[in-house]
Amino acid sequence: MDDKRLYSKLLGLQDPWFISDIEFNESDERIDIHVKHHNPIVVTCPVCRNSYAPYDHGPERVFQHLNTCQFKTFVHVRLPRVKCPTHGVRQILSEFGESGSDKTFAFESYLIDLAKECSIQAVSRLTGVSWDRLWHVVDRSVARGFKRKKQRLPIRIGVDEKSFAKGHTYETLVYDINKGTVEYVGDYRNQQSLEAYFRTFSYKERNAVEAVTMDMWDPYIAATKLHIPDALNKIIFDRFHVMKIITDAVDKVRREEHKELRKQNVDVLKGTRYLWLWARENVPPWRLPKFKELQNLDLKVCRAWAIKENLRHFWDYSNNMWAAKFFDKWYRWACHCRLEPIMKAAKTIKRHYKNIATYIRHRITNALGESLNGKIEKVKRLACGFRNREHYKTAIYFHCGGLDLYPKPPVIKTLQWKTS
Ligand SMILES: [Zn+2]
Repeated sequence: MDDKRLYSKLLGLQDPWFISDIEFNESDERIDIHVKHHNPIVVTCPVCRNSYAPYDHGPERVFQHLNTCQFKTFVHVRLPRVKCPTHGVRQILSEFGESGSDKTFAFESYLIDLAKECSIQAVSRLTGVSWDRLWHVVDRSVARGFKRKKQRLPIRIGVDEKSFAKGHTYETLVYDINKGTVEYVGDYRNQQSLEAYFRTFSYKERNAVEAVTMDMWDPYIAATKLHIPDALNKIIFDRFHVMKIITDAVDKVRREEHKELRKQNVDVLKGTRYLWLWARENVPPWRLPKFKELQNLDLKVCRAWAIKENLRHFWDYSNNMWAAKFFDKWYRWACHCRLEPIMKAAKTIKRHYKNIATYIRHRITNALGESLNGKIEKVKRLACGFRNREHYKTAIYFHCGGLDLYPKPPVIKTLQWKTS
């Protein structure tokens, strides 16, 4: 097989396109492929898709393609222009790379694949493409994804807040719980941040929302009450956030007790922090003997821990009345434990009980949001070198938006033999 035929196959070129020349530059480790077309041809108007004789040719375009072994590879082509009686003189759609791009469809898609796996810096090192050009690829892919996406309000929504770096301001994230995607990233974590999102949808769409899971964060509650009809029956304070309130209280009890004990030169609580925070079944086996030993001592943190572990049963109930009975009993226990942080946490939970109990009916949590959070943590790690919050937002949509990011060649024939 000669080299022109080989490259025609590799590029998927079809008649009347052909390769007129291949330049092999060994010192620059570079291959340049020149593509032309035979005649006579007709070309297609990109708007109405009618075919006409070519009008003229645009300037030479150079598309970077996937490497040939270690050699950078470029495709040179002058695309014909069409003169449509209705739409005037237009460039035909390019089969080589997207309009405005200097990369072939295949190469740009490859860069998107790499950017999904590693940081922009790493992709730059691997491919020799500069940070700015790579960012442009990412940015364009997100814009492309949004253009293709049908904007709709999810039936089951998760709302969460996220800070991108220590000392940074917060962003408000809206998830589609069914799909596991980030639908929206808004600046700050105030009422307006969430309202701005809800406002883009009609009353009918907002009314169709079945559940909104969130942290007990007043501005989000207010925004949801304003825009989602019957919000009080739809807001669910997330199980993980509820458990976090009580778990933080356990930690506080441990810290205070540890401080007191150390005054008496007793060090039993040293290095035990996570034993009390982990769920019982998550305590690593090798720590169990030590944990059992501690449980035999008359410790305040042990009582706090038991109250925390007991609350977890609440989410097993599927009947509202039984759940309420269980909660009352738990609440009485927690309020009489004489451990200040636990009593305080129990009161906070009680105050929000109605929208914690909505879980019994909806049986959804923000757990998916939590797993998305894991992805967002990855975005943060990959994102070093991001210069502003717009970059972070783009990166979140890129990694977590569930968008169709890839450039696609035109589905119509843009250039073909003239048959008659
Ligand atoms: Zn036309």
